[in-house]
Amino acid sequence: MNNNSGAILVLSGPSGAGKSTLLNEIIQDIGKCYFSISTTTRPIREGETNGIHYHFVSEEEFKKDIEDDMFLEYAHVHGNYYGTSIKPVKDALKAGKLVIFDIDVQGNSVVTNRLGDITTSVFISPPTLSELKHRLETRKTDSQKVIDRRIEMAKKEIQRICEYDYLIVNDNLEVAADTLRYIAKAARLKISGNEINEFVYKWEDID
Ligand code: ADP
Ligand code: 5GP
Repeated sequence: MNNNSGAILVLSGPSGAGKSTLLNEIIQDIGKCYFSISTTTRPIREGETNGIHYHFVSEEEFKKDIEDDMFLEYAHVHGNYYGTSIKPVKDALKAGKLVIFDIDVQGNSVVTNRLGDITTSVFISPPTLSELKHRLETRKTDSQKVIDRRIEMAKKEIQRICEYDYLIVNDNLEVAADTLRYIAKAARLKISGNEINEFVYKWEDID
């Protein structure tokens, strides 16, 4: 990729794996980027702000956006809808930014199918299931029922690591952040089919 065109970095992993924490650690160091703010029907958590963490909407509003073809991808996760709006992603890519998605395994599959040649995907996992449970309980943002559902979901998500370019085991935060920093920088350099064609065309400058 050259510096004028955008690229996509997908982050997936069980809720509580540390995706937001890791992203906060590296966001200042990886150049021009845009974190895609998803739309969701999940209830807002304490400490979250509408329009910053998510666009929080009703199920009716979400279904209207599906009908209007507003989403690059959307999925039903943990009993709620989550979706990525196309427009801001297109604008950010045009501006040459690294677009970062925090989306689930279903979302990654759609994005990779649609935009695979500019996408790098990373699965972030806690070291063990018991550590995941501990982190979700310590975070204190979800009820025990919601935590139990997320744990069950995590067991399924982990089976799909092979669909990703990279796996980061988030045990030591500093080590995991370093790894993600390298990957994010490399994601910017991924070259798309169009760019290769353009390069070869310009490179053949002798008749
Ligand atoms: P996610 O965005 O994947 O749902 P969070 O970033 O909210 O996960 O992290 C879940 C919890 O785990 C938070 O309380 C966070 O402080 C903690 N956490 C994140 N990374 C680590 C780590 N490497 N070691 C210990 N705790 C961590
Ligand atoms: P949480 O409710 O913990 O914020 O997120 C729950 C799950 O939904 C996480 O696995 C997160 O990656 C996923 N998610 C968040 N936004 C989107 C989205 O726009 N699309 C998809 N497919 N998944 C999302």
